[in-house]
Amino acid sequence: MSDIIRLLPDHVANQIAAGEVVQRPASVVKELLENAIDAGASQITLIIKDAGKTVIQVIDNGKGMSMTDARMAFERHATSKITNANDLFNLHTKGFRGEALASVAAIAHVTLKTCREEDDLGTILEIEGSKVTNQEPVVTPKGTMISVRNLFFNVPARRKFLKSDNVELRNITDEFHRVAMAHPQVGLKFTSNDTELFNLPISNYRQRIVNIMGAKTNEKLVPVEEETELVTITGFVGKPEFARKTKGLQYFFVNDRFIKHNYLHHAVTSAFDGLLKDKNNPTYFLFLDVPKDSVDINIHPTKTEVKFDDEHSLYAIVRASVKHALGQFSINAIDFDKEPQYEVPYEYTKKNSSSPKIEVNPDFNPFSSNNSSSRKETPSYSKPAPQAWESLYAGLEDSSELIDETEETSMSPSLFEDDHASRNIFQLQRKFIISTLKSGMLVIHQNRAHERILYEQLLKHITVQRGTSQQLLFPLRLNLPVDEVAILTQLQEQLEQTGFIFKTLENNLVEIDGLPIQLKEKDVPQVLEAVIRDSELDLPEESFSQSDRLAATMARGMAIKSGESMSQEAMEHLVDELFACKECELTAQGKKVFINITGDSLNLKFN
Ligand code: ADP
Ligand code: MG
Repeated sequence: MSDIIRLLPDHVANQIAAGEVVQRPASVVKELLENAIDAGASQITLIIKDAGKTVIQVIDNGKGMSMTDARMAFERHATSKITNANDLFNLHTKGFRGEALASVAAIAHVTLKTCREEDDLGTILEIEGSKVTNQEPVVTPKGTMISVRNLFFNVPARRKFLKSDNVELRNITDEFHRVAMAHPQVGLKFTSNDTELFNLPISNYRQRIVNIMGAKTNEKLVPVEEETELVTITGFVGKPEFARKTKGLQYFFVNDRFIKHNYLHHAVTSAFDGLLKDKNNPTYFLFLDVPKDSVDINIHPTKTEVKFDDEHSLYAIVRASVKHALGQFSINAIDFDKEPQYEVPYEYTKKNSSSPKIEVNPDFNPFSSNNSSSRKETPSYSKPAPQAWESLYAGLEDSSELIDETEETSMSPSLFEDDHASRNIFQLQRKFIISTLKSGMLVIHQNRAHERILYEQLLKHITVQRGTSQQLLFPLRLNLPVDEVAILTQLQEQLEQTGFIFKTLENNLVEIDGLPIQLKEKDVPQVLEAVIRDSELDLPEESFSQSDRLAATMARGMAIKSGESMSQEAMEHLVDELFACKECELTAQGKKVFINITGDSLNLKFN
C-alpha cells in the first residue's frame, strides 16, 4: 500500500486557517479597522452592504503600502509589526500575527488600493480566493482602501451559517464601537446600506462615549482615575441609579485594546456592592494602561481574553478606584457648585427650587365672629375645581411638573433685545423664525427647533419621568402587519413612558387609548410608522441609544413642519423652550437648529 499523507494545497490550507480568523463579517471589520489604526490613520470610514455579506469596505488616511508590501500583506504570517518573539512582549500595535489579510483573501473577493505619502503612484491589487487577478499602478489618495466582497463565496457552508442581517449588523456595530471607544483621537464614520449610522469626530474619551451611546449618557457617567505603578486607570462608570438588569455596557480596554475579563468584571461589580438594586448590572468604560510586558494577549486571534502578570493586585486597584469614584460622586451629588452640564440629570437642572410661601393675615382675629372677609383674603392654596375635561388626562399628578417645565425660560431673557412683551419675533417663509437679539439676530429653523425641544422632553419621559397622557374619547385602532405589532409590543414600555396607552387586540390589531400630550391624533400613524421603521435599523439592544433613537424618531414625526404658519405666541413659546434645552444648537441628528447673525457680520457686508 502506498503512503497516504499529503500536504494540502496552499489555498485549501488558507481556507481552513481563515476559519480561525474570520468567523463572520464582524471579524473582517475588526481586522480592517485595526489595520487602519495601526497604519496611523486619523480618519477611517467603514462602509458595509447587507450586514457585510455583500461588501465591507474600509478607507483610511494612514501610511499606505509600497507596491511590494501590498503584495506581501496577503501572504500568511506576513507582518510589518513584529520581527521576533521578544517583540510579542512589547506590542504597540493591534495586529502582529500577519494572518488577517491572507485569511480574508482566501474566502472573498478583495480589492486593495494603497499609496504612501512619498509615492506619486499607488497600487491596486485584486485577489479572489487567494489568487491575484490584477496588480498595477494606480492614482489613488494617500492611505489605504480595502474592499471585501462576497464573503465566504467559496465556503458555502460558512455562508449558510451566517445569521440574519440584523444580528450580523449588530456584531459589526459592536466591533465598531469597541475600536471607536478605544481611539477617540481618530475620526470614524460608519455607513450601512447607504445610511450613515455614525460620524464620530475626533474628540476625547468622554465625548466619544457620548457620541456613540447618545447624548443622554453624559449625565450618567462618573469619572474614574487612578495612577499606580502597575496600572493607570481612566474612564467612567455609570451612576448606580442607571444600572439595568440587562448586560451590555461593560467595556474594558487594555492598552487601547478591547478585552473581556471575568475577574476584573467582578472587581467592578463588587465595588458597586450595596449600590445596585437586585441583579442590576453596572455600566463601565474603563481604560487600563499597563506595562506592555505585564500582559499577554497572545492567546487566540479572535479571543478577547488576556492574561495579566499580577491579576490579584490589578483586581484590588480596579475595585478601589471604582469605589473611590462612586464615593466622590455621591459626595458631589449634594455639592451645588458642581458644573451642571456634567453631573445633574435633566430633572434637576430644569426645576427651580422655590421655598414654600407662608402668608400671614395680620387682620385675622380668631375670636371675631365675622372673619369671613379675612378668610377670603387668605390666598391659601386651592385645588382647581374638578372639570369634565380633567378626566381626559391620565396621570394628572405629573402635569404640574410639565407646566413648570414649559413655563420656564432657563436662558436669561436678557439675551434678547428687550423684555418679553416687546421682543421682535416673526416668521419668514413659514419656515424660519427670526428673533432679534442685542447683538444681532437669530434665524431659527422652526421644524428643527421644535424637534430638539420634543426630543429632550421625550427622552426625559422615557428615561426619568413618565409623560402625561391625553386620553382619547374614541380609541384609535390600527391594522398593522404582525411583525410591526411585535415591534410595538417590544417597545411598549418605552412608548408608554412617553404617554402612549395601547394594547394589542389581535396579533395585527392595536388599540390606542392615550397619546403623549404633545402628539396630535392625525400624526399618530405616521409617528408609529417611523418608530417601527427606525427600530429595524439595528443597534445594540441594551445600549442607551435605544431610548435615544425612539425619542429622536418621535420628535421628528411630531415636530411642526416647515410650511406651517405659527402664531406670535407659539413662536415666542418655541423660542423660550428652545433655549431652555440642554443642547439647543443641534437636532438629535446633529443638524443646525439656528444661526446667529451678529451686527458685526452685517457691518462687514456693508463695507
Ligand atoms: P497584521 O496586522 O497582524 O500585521 P494583517 O494581515 O492584518 O497582519 O496585515 C498584514 C500587513 O499589511 C500589516 O503588517 C501591514 O504592514 C500591512 N497593512 C495591512 N493593512 C494596512 C493598512 N490599512 N495600511 C497600511 N498597511 C497595512
Ligand atoms: Mg492586522
